[in-house]
Amino acid sequence: MKTIDDLDVSGKRVFVRADLNVPLNGTTITDDGRIRAVAPTITALLERGARVVVASHLGRPKGAPDPHFSLAPVAVRLGELLGKPVAFAADTVGDSAKATVAALGDGEVTLLENLRFNAGETSKDDAERGAFADQLAELAELYVGDGFGAVHRKHASVYDLPARLPHAAGLLIEKELGVLKRLTEDVRRPYAVVLGGSKVSDKVGVIDNLLGKADRILIGGGMMFTFLKALGHEVGASLLQEDQIPVALEYLERAKASGVEFIIPVDTAVAGGFPDLKTGAPVEDFEVVDVDAIPAGKLGLDIGPKTAALFAEKLADAKTVFWNGPMGVFEHPQFADGTRAVAQALLTASTPPGDAFTVVGGGDSAAAVRTLGFDENKFGHISTGGGASLEYLEGKTLPGIAALEA
Ligand code: ADP
Ligand code: MG
Repeated sequence: MKTIDDLDVSGKRVFVRADLNVPLNGTTITDDGRIRAVAPTITALLERGARVVVASHLGRPKGAPDPHFSLAPVAVRLGELLGKPVAFAADTVGDSAKATVAALGDGEVTLLENLRFNAGETSKDDAERGAFADQLAELAELYVGDGFGAVHRKHASVYDLPARLPHAAGLLIEKELGVLKRLTEDVRRPYAVVLGGSKVSDKVGVIDNLLGKADRILIGGGMMFTFLKALGHEVGASLLQEDQIPVALEYLERAKASGVEFIIPVDTAVAGGFPDLKTGAPVEDFEVVDVDAIPAGKLGLDIGPKTAALFAEKLADAKTVFWNGPMGVFEHPQFADGTRAVAQALLTASTPPGDAFTVVGGGDSAAAVRTLGFDENKFGHISTGGGASLEYLEGKTLPGIAALEA
């Protein structure tokens, strides 16, 4: 795989596929980690006299412009981080993009509007994606792939565009791949994996592969209820993926057979409804219950304190830890304790004499660590890609990496 050092970028238009999919509250960026993560690549290209055209997706618009998902606030923040103005194009391949790119001088940078405002970006139809990639290719002479959080997507800007331009991997992708190698080759043991979050079916697959690699698998977040239900507990109105119950049971069996410790929560923080994340208003019917006593109609929204202590104990002597997915709805103060406890446990394991290699992966997980006030530099690595990291650990081919290797 080529790196940016292998490209002669001076005076050239360089398309940088970044992942600037940051969490927003209205037009306020609540965590700028993904913008900071790609800034070194952009700066390196600008210093070498490139004309940099940055592109990204944001959220899940439906293939047409939608002001809720505009990258305009990101352009402002990117400019602050780079210390130079970022010209913002009001479209991706239209008149505004063409004019903005044409006006770029050496060492100048523009950000295009959301790639997913164009149906071709995510299309399952190769021809439709290809046609959009052709339009993107007209904007640049070189391609740098640095959107690690999107490399598991077979999208036009990730997969089809690099086939059309001389290409290289950016600094972020190089770094992320280095970390993932450390999690798959010569792993220091015990190796513990903590899984949580809300995208249950996305994440169940990784367990299959981890059963042969990890020593301990800890389950929290929305996924825990599928396992609890599989074990015969009632889970009230909690997030549940009924169709995954047989798979959950199979994993529990295989874990037992292969000596992998599978750790399921023993208590949970529940409420009568989903909390208001915008206002953070306290939930009145909050309570912590054991997992065999989840009241009908109530939702489990975090692991409980007994589980947090159990998880901390299971992480204390680990030498390698990979964590993806918050333990609860950490965006609300009443349901952030489990996530905070796991973050603290990783930090404790990282610090000598623990000296573990700790990796946090996932957009929300990384945002959680930072918004809960932890110093990100104290972790081994905070990855910008959850799905991408998981698919790599599952042993899948990542389309965006394959395209850069070709
Ligand atoms: P990541 O981005 O780190 O891969 P996900 O996107 O899978 O993580 O999940 C993050 C989301 O999961 C958070 O917004 C959080 O509120 C939510 N979540 C965690 N636990 C629960 C739960 N028990 N019920 C519903 N949502 C949950
Ligand atoms: Mg997420």
